Amino acid sequence: MLDADFFRRWMTATAASVDREAERLTALDSAIGDADHGSNMQRGFTAVLASLEEEAPATPGAVLVLAGRRLISTVGGAAGPLYGTLLRKAGKALGDATEVSEKQLAEALRAGVDGVMALGGAAPGDKTMIDSLVPAVDALGEGFAAARSAAEQGAEATIPLLARKGRASYLGERSIGHQDPGATSSALLIAGLEEAASG
Ligand code: ADP
Ligand code: MG
Ligand code: MG
Repeated sequence: MLDADFFRRWMTATAASVDREAERLTALDSAIGDADHGSNMQRGFTAVLASLEEEAPATPGAVLVLAGRRLISTVGGAAGPLYGTLLRKAGKALGDATEVSEKQLAEALRAGVDGVMALGGAAPGDKTMIDSLVPAVDALGEGFAAARSAAEQGAEATIPLLARKGRASYLGERSIGHQDPGATSSALLIAGLEEAASG
């Protein structure tokens, strides 16, 4: 079973990898966007960690709802509301249980991803974070390592795609040949689950 501490470790691990990879995320966004994805995500997850310390939410659901709220309030641009919705919806789906199963986490993340698709209108293949999140959630039943590799493969598979949503879509054909920054940061988020599970 996964307790609030697991979810805190997940957010901490994600913040650390976002810090480590911020330059890469921004470089990817400079090719097909406005070169701010790394700094957007860094600002957001730094604020998430600060809020988690301050408010010390006691349940898995409360950790995710708080994290989602902070992302919405601190990350400008498309990614903030989208990641915020992902975590908030997932957190709400977990309710106020003090421990949740991996299956419940998978179902909650599915609800979160559905919320992202409803808000942003992106479908798989549109070259967005959805291309990493959907395969990751599909693979979660096989464990965190399987979800991580599905997310990474999904992110890499955005390279040949034409962007149909977000800023990158303004480039049309010129978006082809570049990896989507949001799909790349989503793979970091999913990789954080495996790190959280290892303690
Ligand atoms: P902005 O484009 O506003 O500068 P970011 O650079 O932080 O925001 O985030 C860009 C990422 O957001 C993209 O790489 C893409 O993965 C994701 N994104 C943008 N629009 C959408 C959307 N409508 N649905 C899902 N993801 C989206
Ligand atoms: Mg950007
Ligand atoms: Mg921007």
